[in-house]
Amino acid sequence: MDPLIITIAGIGAELTRDKQPNLPLTADEIAADAAQCADAGASIYHLHVRAADGTPTMDVGAFRAALGAIRARTELIVQFTSGGAVTDTEDARIAPLELQPDMASLTTGSVNFGDEVFHNPAPLVERFYVRMRSLGIVPEFEIFEPGMIGNAERLLRDHGDDHHRHFDLVLGVPGAMPAWPDAVPFLAAHLPEGASWSATGIGRSYVQVGQDAIRLGGHVRTGFEDVLYYEAREVATSNRQLVERIAGMARDAGRPVATVAQAREILGLEAHRGTLGA
Ligand code: ZN
Repeated sequence: MDPLIITIAGIGAELTRDKQPNLPLTADEIAADAAQCADAGASIYHLHVRAADGTPTMDVGAFRAALGAIRARTELIVQFTSGGAVTDTEDARIAPLELQPDMASLTTGSVNFGDEVFHNPAPLVERFYVRMRSLGIVPEFEIFEPGMIGNAERLLRDHGDDHHRHFDLVLGVPGAMPAWPDAVPFLAAHLPEGASWSATGIGRSYVQVGQDAIRLGGHVRTGFEDVLYYEAREVATSNRQLVERIAGMARDAGRPVATVAQAREILGLEAHRGTLGA
């Protein structure tokens, strides 16, 4: 098995300071958070950004500031969201890609998201994919439902796949596929040959989903975007704490945690891109 890649999704588009007092919001806070997570074993930072008042934004300037701050302090692989918030327009969601992060998330289908709908019709997904590839960005296919794997395969077949294939299995979003005990093995078994994958358990399911991924040779994503409670009635105190938990689970399972260099090799990413946004 490859060493375990830990992705930290430290911000998201929905969480507020009312619920999570330690949510990083400014570029400096995000970079400090990223540095702590890197120390604890994370190798990818999945990035959302916020406006000064804390509301989610897809503003290119805010992404540039956060990207520059992270790259100034860490060697982490930076993965932009292309989902944003459910209220963001298609044009707003695609705009930050011009900054050429290492990776970007790409959800390959529409799905209910609580009371809202996360809109990802096929033409949008195709446009985002083509844009990512033209900029040398490696997509991470976000899978909320089994059919999204088929959508990703179609995309790869239609456009050629001159890059490593990496998936993230997201389980337990209200409105999408629950974190059933057999969900991770089922989805992993249907991924294309040679693909790598991580798994994300939303809410308390992060422990079970993380253990499944570690055991089955996948990788793990966690962080405030996905997890509010570290344990029952115990709000997570930091993203670092969540990384440490996953790293501890890997240690218990006898699986080493990947360095950033190892993660780059596994994911077929070129070397550090420097400080574009600084
Ligand atoms: Zn996200």
